[in-house]
Amino acid sequence: MQQVTILGSTGSIGVSTLDVLSRHPERYQVFALTADRQWQALADQCLRFKPRYAVINADDAYAPLVERLKASGCTTDVLCGTEAIAAVASHADVHTVMAAIVGAAGLMPTLAAVRTGKKVLLANKEALVMAGGLFTRAVLESGACLLPIDSEHNAIFQCLPNQQNNFLRDGVTTSGVRKILLTASGGPFLHTPVDALGAVTPEQACAHPNWRMGQKISVDSATMLNKGLELIEACWLFNVPPQQVEVVIHPQSVIHSMVEYIDGSVLAQLGNPDMRTPIAHALAWPERIDSGVSSLDLIATARLDFAAPDTERFPCLRLAQQAAAQGATAPAILNAANEVAVAAFLDRRLGFRQIPQVIEQVMAQVAVTAADSLDAVQWADTQARSCAGTFIGTLQR
Ligand code: NAD
Ligand code: MG
Repeated sequence: MQQVTILGSTGSIGVSTLDVLSRHPERYQVFALTADRQWQALADQCLRFKPRYAVINADDAYAPLVERLKASGCTTDVLCGTEAIAAVASHADVHTVMAAIVGAAGLMPTLAAVRTGKKVLLANKEALVMAGGLFTRAVLESGACLLPIDSEHNAIFQCLPNQQNNFLRDGVTTSGVRKILLTASGGPFLHTPVDALGAVTPEQACAHPNWRMGQKISVDSATMLNKGLELIEACWLFNVPPQQVEVVIHPQSVIHSMVEYIDGSVLAQLGNPDMRTPIAHALAWPERIDSGVSSLDLIATARLDFAAPDTERFPCLRLAQQAAAQGATAPAILNAANEVAVAAFLDRRLGFRQIPQVIEQVMAQVAVTAADSLDAVQWADTQARSCAGTFIGTLQR
C-alpha cells in the first residue's frame, strides 16, 4: 500500500489525482491533503478519503476546517501553514507526493519531497522554471524519482526509453534523440483577430477549448506563456538546450508531444485530453493502471492539424524563449512577473495584452544573477514581483 500526499488537492490536478486514486484502493492510501484556503472542499475530501493529515495554508481557514471535521467525527489531524505543508511532503511514511500547488508557492514543499527521496509527480512546473538547476541537482543527490505530470512532458517521457532519472544527468541526446516536439493547442485565442485581444475578459481567457484547468494556467495557455514555461521545463527534465525543443501548434490536443530520433523516427503519445492519463501513468510507472479515461475515437477526431506558432500574436512565447536562452535567474524573473500580471488580469486591473508588456518591462529592469542558491532565486522572485507591481500601478487599462 503506497501512502500518497497531494499538495494542492482542491485544485484541478488534485481532484483528478483523487479520482484516479479512488479507482485503486488496494494500491494507494491518501496520507495527506493540502490546500491554500478552500477549507470546505478540503473538508469534503477528508470525509471521503480519511487522510492522516490535512493542511490548510491560510490561518483564518484553520478553525472552520477543524470545527467541520470534528462535527463529522473525522479523525484527520489538521495542521496549518507552509512549514506543515513541507512536513507532510517529506514525512517518513510517505512514498509518493503529487506536487500540484500552482505557482512559486509550490517550490519549497516540492523541494522538501525531493530532498527526502520521494517519488515526486511534478505538475507544479513553476518550481522547475524558477529553480531548475537546484531542483534537478537535489533529485540526483537524494535519489528521488521525478516523473512529469504536465501532459506534454509526460508524453515525451513515454516516447523515450525507460530510464527515468538518467535523463536529468545525461540528457536524451545519448538515447539518439534529435529533437523534442512540444505541442501546443494555441488556446482560446488562436484565431481571434489580434486587435480584439486587448478587450478579452478573464472568463474568455479561461475558456480553454480542450482542457478544464485552474485559472492561472488557463490564462497562461491563452497567452502561450504556458508553452514558454513548458519549454524551460522540458530543458531541465530532459537535459536539452532550448534549440532542441520545437514548439508546434496542434489545435486538437490529441497528440500530447513527440520525440524525433536521429534515424528520422518520430514517436508521439496520443490520447483524449484528460489529465487522469498522465496522472495514472506516473502513479503506477513503470506499470499501467486504469485512469477512467475513455478510448480515443480517431474516426470522430478525423484530422490532426499542425502549424508554426505566431510570436507576434503570442509575445509571451518569445519572452520565455529569451529567458530560456539567458538562463540563470531569468526564468525565475519571467515567472514571477507573469504570476503578478496574471493575478492583476484576473482581478481586472490589467488588460490581456498588457501581460507581456509587464513581463518585458520586468525582464529589462531586474538584474539576472547566477541561480546557484535558493536565496538567489528568491531574491530574483521578490525583485520581479515588486517591479511588476510598480509597473502595473503606472499603466492605464
Ligand atoms: P488550481 O488553481 O486548480 O489548484 C491549485 C492548488 O494549489 C489548490 O489546491 C490551491 O488550494 C493550492 N494553492 C494555491 N496557492 C497556494 C499556496 N500559496 N500555498 C499552498 N497551496 C496553494 O491549479 P491546477 O490547474 O490544478 O494547477 C496546479 C499546477 O499543475 C500548476 O503548476 C499548473 O501549471 C500545473 N498543471 C496543471 C494542469 C491542469 O490540467 N490543470 C496541467 C498541467 C500542469
Ligand atoms: Mg501542459
